[in-house]
Amino acid sequence: MLKQDTIFVAGANGLAGSAIVRKLQALGYTHLLTPSSKQLNLLEKQTVVDFFAAEQPDYVVLAAAKVGGILSNMLQPADYIYQNLMIQSNVIEASYRYQVKKLLFLGSSCIYPKYAPQPIKEQHLLTGALELTNEPYAIAKISGIKMCEAYNKQYGTNFLCVMPTNLYGPFDRFDPTHAHVLPALLRKFHEAKLRGDEYVEVWGSGTPRREFLFVDDLADACIYLLQHYDHREIGTWINIGTGTDLSIHELALKLKGIVGFAGELRFDRSKPDGTPRKLLDVSKLHSLGWKATTSLDDGIKQTYDWFKTTRS
Ligand code: GDP
Repeated sequence: MLKQDTIFVAGANGLAGSAIVRKLQALGYTHLLTPSSKQLNLLEKQTVVDFFAAEQPDYVVLAAAKVGGILSNMLQPADYIYQNLMIQSNVIEASYRYQVKKLLFLGSSCIYPKYAPQPIKEQHLLTGALELTNEPYAIAKISGIKMCEAYNKQYGTNFLCVMPTNLYGPFDRFDPTHAHVLPALLRKFHEAKLRGDEYVEVWGSGTPRREFLFVDDLADACIYLLQHYDHREIGTWINIGTGTDLSIHELALKLKGIVGFAGELRFDRSKPDGTPRKLLDVSKLHSLGWKATTSLDDGIKQTYDWFKTTRS
């Protein structure tokens, strides 16, 4: 990947996309296409085709997606499956038609079966039933991976997919209904501290275990893979994570400590737990010479600093 290559980052304003743009800029890539969703509606096929025809990108990072937490997925299952299928189909097809040198598609760890053996290896895909709370989103993402695989097979394209574990960091969504657990709880603790509340509500039992990756580490891994590897060497999809997880209860205690909230945790068991455990096996990624470097404490502190300066 040359510094003067044209790189289209779809979803450049989102959590993952914006971190990838920052990292590409820091590395000296100057020809970046970063349209917002208002400037380029990825749901419309012709709009996407016209964009590719005009801009002729050399590389594509497909980080555009409708994403959200467990409740958001349950409230809007149709939007999650429809929008993700449309966005990725339009961008993948246009990447083939306009002969991009390489496309990197961002999936998610929720593509794996609900009861996959832990830590979850790449080959566990499609070996069991999915977690129902986010099945529509997961089906869309699985379709994206299988679409990349099919295009590689039939057309000899160079499409690679990455499966990040739960991401967090600056530019995330922090709204209580739609956010993922880490930003949602960070905000709840922050606001409870300011109000002097006695407790913060944590959804579910607190026993599910999750793995969290700081989004700057994800960006680093994505660019490392884009620069050095393709699917012929490492397979169509590869996990990206830290290799370490913790329970939601432990996460809540950590967030409470970092925010400095003095009250209690109360578990709301009427809310869903989701998958019991979601820890990725990242040995394949490690064998390629890449490891996450940001500790969970440091990543949360950076995220909290960003939240305080931009949102409160
Ligand atoms: P998941 O990883 O797809 O299950 O999505 P989430 O990040 O939304 O939720 C992870 C876990 O955190 C689930 O067990 C939730 O019930 C739990 N959780 C606890 N408190 C919250 C909260 O305030 N918001 C969210 N989204 N999840 C929470």
